[in-house]
Parts: sequence; structure tokens; C-alpha cells
Amino acid sequence: MAVIRSMFQPKKKRKHGRENYRCRKCGTTKGVIRKYGILLCRKCFREEAKDLGFVQYN
Ligand SMILES: [Zn+2]
Repeated sequence: MAVIRSMFQPKKKRKHGRENYRCRKCGTTKGVIRKYGILLCRKCFREEAKDLGFVQYN
């Protein structure tokens, strides 16, 4: 019965949790940009953007 039991066990590991990622600068979980492995919130990203080589075109 081990096979059947494992089929009904919920998977604990989730790849894309909503609040799993923290800003590595200020530690917030809100608005964290995970794209490109930046791992910074919007606020900190704006500060670090220049150093990271992102340029705002306005
Ligand atoms: Zn931050």
C-alpha cells in the first residue's frame, strides 16, 4: 500500500512560493524581484540598479 499512500501525500516542496524570497538588502518579502537572480525589492532595486548595470530610459 506504500505506493497508494504516496500518491495522496501532499507535496511540501513548492518551487514558486509567493513569500519565499526576501530582499537581500532590507529583508522585506514584498515586491521582491527574483528575475535574473537579483533578489532585491523594488525599492532597493532602484538603488542598486545603477551598480548592476541597469539603465532607465525615460
Ligand atoms: Zn529591499
